[in-house]
Amino acid sequence: MSHKPDLKKRPEPSPRIFRSEEELAALPVSERVRYRLVAAGRRFHANDNIADFVREGELSELKAEVQQKMQALLESLVIDTESDHNTQDTAKRVAKMYLDEVFRGRFHPVPSVTEFPNAERLNELMIVGPITVRSACSHHLCPIFGKVWIGLLPNEHSNLIGLSKYARICDWIMSRPQIQEEAVTMLANELQERVQPDGLAIVMEADHFCMHWRGVKDTDSAMVNSVMRGAFLKDANLRREFLALLPRKTAA
Ligand SMILES: [Zn+2]
Repeated sequence: MSHKPDLKKRPEPSPRIFRSEEELAALPVSERVRYRLVAAGRRFHANDNIADFVREGELSELKAEVQQKMQALLESLVIDTESDHNTQDTAKRVAKMYLDEVFRGRFHPVPSVTEFPNAERLNELMIVGPITVRSACSHHLCPIFGKVWIGLLPNEHSNLIGLSKYARICDWIMSRPQIQEEAVTMLANELQERVQPDGLAIVMEADHFCMHWRGVKDTDSAMVNSVMRGAFLKDANLRREFLALLPRKTAA
């Protein structure tokens, strides 16, 4: 008995969602990176780091693409970038500023930080700060300028990191378009995972330039956010001790 293939029931070719790297190569670099993110099911909000999905050499390609689109934006603002010598290189400058400086925490991997065991078994409240914060709001891409204080209660199993490394991790998280509440949570998650303290407290006080430059033009509005975890959540005395040690702008 011959086995006749049932031609009518041949399965539909499945939709090609994910392309091969060769096919991707023909696309603009931002689409290429986006394809990889979607294929991996990864979120790519403004404050997410996407360094794992940007291949070698693609950062300069991204810079060129941003420059081109920034130029188009200037043209849409009806700015004569040809005869206006002030704006001739603005598109290039802004692209470089976004990719290499103010949003670098989105495109570059986490700075290397060595953790070492808590050999001295330190278990006293440690405060790191103020760490200068330079960020931008996700809503308007306006600067956010402020300070962060970190309180840690290590235990004998905690990993310690060098003091300057707190500032580097903080900068990596802040140099993305951010929302202050989310930024402090991201910083807390990163530190919790690395240091594994009994308690972790973060306070961020920042000026949002979208409040000065536009909108209500309120010139005296700093926003304060905090995250308290572990011992700082349970122990009101520890929390008070930490907060009392912060030289706050509002107290000046
Ligand atoms: Zn804003």
